[in-house]
Amino acid sequence: MAFEGLTSRLQSVFSKLRGKGKVSEDDVNEAMREVRLALLEADVNFKVVKEFIAKVKEKAVGSEVMESFTPGMVIIDIVNKELTELMGGTQSKLAKSNRPPTVIMMAGLQGAGKTTTSAKLAKLLLKGNHRPLLVAGDIYRPAAIKQLQVLGEQITVPVFTLPAGNSPVEIARQALQHAKDNGNDYLLIDTAGRLHIDEELMEELRQIHEVTKPDEVLLVVDAMTGQDAVNVAESFNKQLELTGVVLTKLDGDTRGGAALSVKAVTGCPIKFAALGEKIDALEPFHPERMASRILG
Ligand code: GDP
Repeated sequence: MAFEGLTSRLQSVFSKLRGKGKVSEDDVNEAMREVRLALLEADVNFKVVKEFIAKVKEKAVGSEVMESFTPGMVIIDIVNKELTELMGGTQSKLAKSNRPPTVIMMAGLQGAGKTTTSAKLAKLLLKGNHRPLLVAGDIYRPAAIKQLQVLGEQITVPVFTLPAGNSPVEIARQALQHAKDNGNDYLLIDTAGRLHIDEELMEELRQIHEVTKPDEVLLVVDAMTGQDAVNVAESFNKQLELTGVVLTKLDGDTRGGAALSVKAVTGCPIKFAALGEKIDALEPFHPERMASRILG
């Protein structure tokens, strides 16, 4: 399970605090030292940890908290609220264009879960009574096109493809027209992923962006890769204005670093979380629920 280490570390810090009738400034400092180590061990970005601890301390140290009836509980509540804020505060909803289709471009490195997530998102939209159209734009990995077609069939969502020889930009352009002509209100473009971020990949994404003017550019990142996921998000965001992040593989034993750092580092909200390989395993990301889950 994700966050296991972090949760058990935080629980032990907090059970000490909870047990105390009175809490001194030293107790708070000691607890915050331990929280800091727990977050660093969970692979949270060190700057993010520093700011987080400073914020919690500022709120926790003071007569109002110290002299309250249950200071330990008040401090835990402060940590909970700050964790929620760190992950974006409130749920960040998917865009909806006034002039359909709403165009969503999916980007990410190969293996992050882009193709699977595109299909999962299409399924969520279908459940919400939308008429999504999936676009197979990952032409360099023929298996990706097939994979999307198989998934599309499974969830009864059409998949737009063009014969080999067409560029992803051309595919995206024609898919957009196809969606307009056929009344699809969401267009989900699966783009090519590479093993590394390179200029060619970015240029292609910029061109698809140019012709489809997406309402959302969602970056799919693998939460299991921790700080690397955050670095990838930062690089993509510099080249292509991202509107959100999808964290995948949160069902694995990720330590939590990506979930806790990505919003603070990139400014991009986490919009969805993927918690498994199954087509239903995608949920809107709720910062407050994730914070409660982390605190156990
Ligand atoms: P892409 O190269 O980014 O398009 O990645 P794929 O969509 O092909 O996914 C790569 C692998 O990760 C596949 O085996 C997926 O089944 C798996 N995968 C994707 N999302 C999740 C997830 O949330 N949890 C788990 N456990 N596996 C996932």
